[in-house]
Amino acid sequence: MMRGRGYLAFFVGISLTAWTCYFVMEEQQKLQVQAGFQRDAEKVARDTQSRLQIYFDSLHGMKGVYAVNDRIDRLHFHRYVNELKIDKRYPGFQALQFVRVVPEAQLPAFVERVKRDTSVDPKGYPDFYLHPASARSPHYIIEYTEPLKGNENAFGLDLSALPQHLKALELGRDSGEIVATGRITLVQDASGEPGFVARAPVYRNDVPLETTAQRREAIVGFVAIVFRMNTLMREVVDPALLEHLHLRIEDGGFQNGKPLDPGVDPLMYDSDGRVESHQERAELVPGLVTQTVLPVGQRNWIMKFEGRAGSRYGRSQLPVVLIGVAGFTISGLIALLLVANRRESDARHGLEFSLKELELQKNNVEEARNDLSRVVATLKQAQTNLQTSEKMASLGALVAGVAHELNTPIGNSLLTASALGDMVRDFERRLKEDGGLKRSALESHLGDARKACDIMTSSLTRAADLITSFKQVAVDQASGQRRRFRLDEVLHDTLATYAAQLRRASCSVTVDVPADLVFDSYPGSLSQVLSNLIGNALLHGFDGRDDGTLWISARREGPDLAVLQLRDNGVGMTDVVLHKIFDPFFTTKMGQGGSGLGMNIVYNIVTSVLKGTIRVESVPAEGTSVTLVLPLWLKEDVLQA
Ligand code: ADP
Ligand code: MG
Repeated sequence: MMRGRGYLAFFVGISLTAWTCYFVMEEQQKLQVQAGFQRDAEKVARDTQSRLQIYFDSLHGMKGVYAVNDRIDRLHFHRYVNELKIDKRYPGFQALQFVRVVPEAQLPAFVERVKRDTSVDPKGYPDFYLHPASARSPHYIIEYTEPLKGNENAFGLDLSALPQHLKALELGRDSGEIVATGRITLVQDASGEPGFVARAPVYRNDVPLETTAQRREAIVGFVAIVFRMNTLMREVVDPALLEHLHLRIEDGGFQNGKPLDPGVDPLMYDSDGRVESHQERAELVPGLVTQTVLPVGQRNWIMKFEGRAGSRYGRSQLPVVLIGVAGFTISGLIALLLVANRRESDARHGLEFSLKELELQKNNVEEARNDLSRVVATLKQAQTNLQTSEKMASLGALVAGVAHELNTPIGNSLLTASALGDMVRDFERRLKEDGGLKRSALESHLGDARKACDIMTSSLTRAADLITSFKQVAVDQASGQRRRFRLDEVLHDTLATYAAQLRRASCSVTVDVPADLVFDSYPGSLSQVLSNLIGNALLHGFDGRDDGTLWISARREGPDLAVLQLRDNGVGMTDVVLHKIFDPFFTTKMGQGGSGLGMNIVYNIVTSVLKGTIRVESVPAEGTSVTLVLPLWLKEDVLQA
């Protein structure tokens, strides 16, 4: 459903974008492009007009010369035109001419005069002739043409034979204004290029010129400028502009005359028709068209402008493309946003859901926790029970062990004692019966009695020893004295009691204990531990060895711990032995002086009296290492516990 909305948003966005693009194109067309185009067209028209004005002013100037002197001869005309330097300053000119009005009657005399005119060319113009032949009077003959070179065809041209020209001449004569011809193909060259001629009438100076009749009467001739359209327009219009603008100039006929005949070619100029412009022109922009009417020498020129596609008038693609891209992107983003929003709300729903789920789970966990704590309580109870029963069991085992151990020596003593009792009764009886006792019998009896006493003594000594050990098993904290002591001193004292045995076993002892290692603990208990460990090394480790080494080292660990290590290079232990080493009555020397209580006592003293830990490592045939980690001082609460 949201996805649908996303698509809809996208579609609407795209539609809006498309419409905006279209609108922008239209607006560009209407406002900017059209305005720019209009400006360009007007400028070209204005430039054309002002250029023509400059040319026409030179025509007025020539007319002015005639106003000073209406008998300007060929030389004067020649000099005047030379002075204008038309090739440099007015390249649009093809030629400047003077057209003489000659009535029919004066024609032969006129021709003769021209032929013999040597004012410019010393040879005169013997080949001068009138063309084409005309019977109309008066004749309008091109008498001077400057420059003559290139315009020879025009020299002697009788314009009365050419209706186009004649009409313009008569209009000029009657109005006194500058009059332009329509499109003519210049007689001067064969290029067929269109041109036109603008002429200003010249009258006699001494007569009034108010009316048409007076002007017709006073007409002398015309000064004329021959224009080549293409050259003229090249001066007016920037060629670069023609890349963007197509210009056609058509002749619209005389301002107050009839429109041109359909048969007449009105085209004066076509910017595309120029000889040198072979290059491809860009497409015309539809609708980009305007036209201006330009008055030129009593005629109307119609300037038709068309705009071309491209940078100047073409619809600029960039804004449209930018708008398109931006619109597309924005639409896409909005659509994405909508879709993402849905995802988000999905996620929110999901979140709420999982929060509920979490709450539920929490309750479950709470319940489980309660269950668990109940279980833990039960377990603790069970543990306490177990510990108690364990204690009972070990106590039972201990009692059984004690009974078993004491059984032999006490049994032996009992047996010997009863045997001794028998012997004594027997001796008594014999003493009463015989009265006299043989000396040998007495001696034998005494020997037996002494033997029995020896047996009983040794058995009871053994029993007493065992009982001493048993007393140690039940560790009595209060029995020891707590005080400050130096470890090295205690170690030294303990080693001293073993001096004889160590010497006998060829055992060397290496001690590395710093003197500043001071304990505040139970030196008696520690000494008991040390003697047990040293005794074990002698009894078990070096058993069957010729010699051995015992390393004893200690170091401080942290502010209140000491690590004490005893290591021998004796026979070592298997894993099985190592596993049972702390068990009471576990010994591998049963009947050979081992009680199996030594390590058990050590363990109990280290953990309960000295509040430390013990670790035994051993490799068979390599040796045994016992590591004790002991606190340097005991806390009060620890002591009270
Ligand atoms: P006991 O010394 O009376 O045999 P203990 O509890 O002291 O009993 O030791 C248990 C057993 O651990 C010994 O029988 C012996 O096998 C083994 N044991 C103890 N210390 C060493 C040692 N340093 N080298 C080899 N075996 C040892
Ligand atoms: Mg022992």
